[in-house]
Amino acid sequence: MQKKTISVVVPVYNEEECILGFLDESLFPVIKKIKDYNMHVILVNDGSSDNTLPILRKYIKESKDDIALISFSRNFGKEAALSAGLKYAKGDAVITIDADGQQPPDLIPDFIGKWENGAEIVTGVRDKYTKHGLLQKMGSKLFYKLLRMMGNKYTVPGSTDYRIMDRIVVDEFNKLTEHNRITRGLVDWLGYRQEYVEYTYGVRMAGKPSYNIKKLFHLAIDSFISMSTTPLVIFGYIGIFIVITSFLLGMFVIINQYILGDPLQLYWNGAVQMSIFISFLVGLVLISQAITALYISHIHAETQGRPLYIIDEKKSLNL
Ligand code: UDP
Ligand code: MG
Repeated sequence: MQKKTISVVVPVYNEEECILGFLDESLFPVIKKIKDYNMHVILVNDGSSDNTLPILRKYIKESKDDIALISFSRNFGKEAALSAGLKYAKGDAVITIDADGQQPPDLIPDFIGKWENGAEIVTGVRDKYTKHGLLQKMGSKLFYKLLRMMGNKYTVPGSTDYRIMDRIVVDEFNKLTEHNRITRGLVDWLGYRQEYVEYTYGVRMAGKPSYNIKKLFHLAIDSFISMSTTPLVIFGYIGIFIVITSFLLGMFVIINQYILGDPLQLYWNGAVQMSIFISFLVGLVLISQAITALYISHIHAETQGRPLYIIDEKKSLNL
């Protein structure tokens, strides 16, 4: 029987300090032990501004292994690098893994094993929140909590971009056209049979993470915006609440003061009446904003052009 091919996609951005160590001491020792598959590595240089590119080119020239290099004209971000890698990967399954050694390549055989046993996606999940700073730790906890609250039931807390995907999943992923993409969210959105491998998020071999707090914050905002409309709806509900309460208060003022002649002796003056009226208007504005935002979110969904559904060909019959 012909050997199956597995592609390994590695996004690389300014990793001059650890890329050689990662390839030579971490990734390839594992890959070389895998004899049952043709292993094909695709390095995606995400517009590195340091010496990463020359290092990679030299490495590939001198290596006997099957390695391809995609090099961007500038830094487009890890999500773009992953998408490019997935597009060019030809394997029966595709593994994505970071270039800094934080996602241990030793687990690649476990991923492959689960895939061979029928999982179409196997995602690596950090066993605890072994992120760098306290702020990031709390940030990522909060992130998953909010994501869940906002109705994204698919994303498992701590899930990372260390994963293997079957060919059918990769093909469907490659059909997605949206530009603002969070790979994790999209893969979860695709569905299919997903399993998880727990691992301890290691420390960087060298160099600094290029995802600083600011970038992570943007990533989090992007995830919320691309996956859910709940934030808008919450403000709409607040608006409804304000409108109802201020309307009732207003009715109360009219009845108490102008019809009954203030039997409760509240002496609410014009300023109080005015603030009730203004609250009412603020509530209306919030509601109308939420409605506008819902329209925009529909437009947004249309422009994303996601497929309406995805057919699981293995489970379907006689098509
Ligand atoms: N990376 C990339 N483009 C970027 C930022 C990062 O391709 O703009 C790569 C980086 O080289 C590494 C992986 O994405 O292989 C994860 O990046 P990093 O270690 O900075 O993030 P973290 O470990 O905090 O998730
Ligand atoms: Mg890292």
